Amino acid sequence: MEKNKVVIVLSKCSNKKELFGIRVEEKSPGKWSADWAFKIQDAMAKKEGYAEIKIPVFEIESAYPGCPYCKNRSFFQCTCGFKLSCWNERDKTVTCGWCGHQSELNGNIENITAGEDR
Ligand SMILES: [Zn+2]
Ligand SMILES: [Zn+2]
Repeated sequence: MEKNKVVIVLSKCSNKKELFGIRVEEKSPGKWSADWAFKIQDAMAKKEGYAEIKIPVFEIESAYPGCPYCKNRSFFQCTCGFKLSCWNERDKTVTCGWCGHQSELNGNIENITAGEDR
């Protein structure tokens, strides 16, 4: 059996502004789901230089532990790029963990930039 593809999506905590990685696995063709999240230091993210690929919106598995800083289980995507910030699934006005831009949530996430795990 072929090994499932695994990518890491870099995200930031919208509360603490700290970096974390979401582990996302392609469980079946075109179907991605997140099952783990872990803290990342900025320096480490740069050094590892994940090769970037785009993936569609992923599901969040029940085993997913949430943001490692504040436990938020969901995400939103700011207009500053394809990067994610953690989201508490309630607030309609959100502040991007990357650029600090405050915006109203609307629309859906279409695709996400991820890094291939090596
Ligand atoms: Zn958070
Ligand atoms: Zn932003």
